[in-house]
Amino acid sequence: MPAFVSEWNACADRLTAMDDTPEGNNTTEGDDDARTDLDAGTDARTDDEPDPGTDDEPDLDLDADLAVDDDTPTGFRSGFVTLVGRPNVGKSTLLNQVLGQKVAIVSDKPQTTRHRIRGVLNRPDAQVVFVDTPGIHKPRTPLGERLNETASATISDVDVVVFVLDATQPFGRGDQWVADRMPPEAVVAVNKVDKARRDRVMTQLAAAGELNLSAYFPVSARTGEGVDALVDHLVTRMPEGPRYFPAGMVTDVDEAFRVAELVREQLLAVAREELPHSIATRVTEWEWPYIRCEILVERPSQKGIVVGHDGEVLKKVGIAVRSQLPDGAYLDLHVRVDRNWQRRPRSLDRLGF
Ligand code: GDP
Ligand code: MG
Repeated sequence: MPAFVSEWNACADRLTAMDDTPEGNNTTEGDDDARTDLDAGTDARTDDEPDPGTDDEPDLDLDADLAVDDDTPTGFRSGFVTLVGRPNVGKSTLLNQVLGQKVAIVSDKPQTTRHRIRGVLNRPDAQVVFVDTPGIHKPRTPLGERLNETASATISDVDVVVFVLDATQPFGRGDQWVADRMPPEAVVAVNKVDKARRDRVMTQLAAAGELNLSAYFPVSARTGEGVDALVDHLVTRMPEGPRYFPAGMVTDVDEAFRVAELVREQLLAVAREELPHSIATRVTEWEWPYIRCEILVERPSQKGIVVGHDGEVLKKVGIAVRSQLPDGAYLDLHVRVDRNWQRRPRSLDRLGF
């Protein structure tokens, strides 16, 4: 019997061991965990005066010393895992769940993750560096091409690849396109089992089984169900080695990037249709507590949407982002029209793609 068959059976057992999926309970699409409390009631433009008493640095300082800690116990394992899959299957949500904190932004729009984001899982026995990638898909624009390059380049660079599938969607051409780029040692995570009907999950697992990859895990990145089993398995797949990052470090994402991403996350939550692809954000000044963040859109009409009636939308975005920053942050948001920033290599470079 080929190894993957027993792996597939083991996976089916893991699924059976899970609590019953609420069959047909799919009405709560509830993809709203990215949204933040907007009740703060302050005006992002006028009430954001920096508190004169606060000159604290933000406590999300990540400029940790990158010196490798050689004080690791014998048998310590370490390595890199990358999460790949087509857009929207839940890679970033899975990364956040594994780390127990939000390092990657999440939305129900494709192409939310545009950069490679690393998150570090520290356990007494192991350090696993997870690499979240942009979803792999057939590119249609230069930005799409760069995103694919970013994702593909990480595949060859890591110890284990986790191929994430969405149990609520049939295995489609997009998945096949990614599957064709998987090494045989890849691990499959069939995600969103909290939302998919049980038979859907089984069908997806069966489809994944055809790929002859090395192991299969039903998980819910949202509830955390099945995630420990996946992580435990990944740890066994890591080679023995030292910590690559200090034990206290959770991500290598820098603060300015994180704030720009939080702004984009809020904009994605209000955006519709083609707008998500048209938005880029970057922090252009950081003089704590003053943070200036630029929002690029491609057309004047899009600027209108982002600003909203009487600046309503921008105001909400500002409030929601500030609620996720250390107290006292003064967030200055500016919207600029930059036609075709996606197609101009110079704008892509400036935005760090
Ligand atoms: P990515 O493009 O693969 O990184 O996907 P995201 O992590 O941004 O998630 C895409 C959408 O799926 C978001 O709206 C998430 O809230 C949702 N999602 C992700 N994981 C799960 C899950 O396990 N269960 C459910 N019900 N939704 C999920
Ligand atoms: Mg993502």
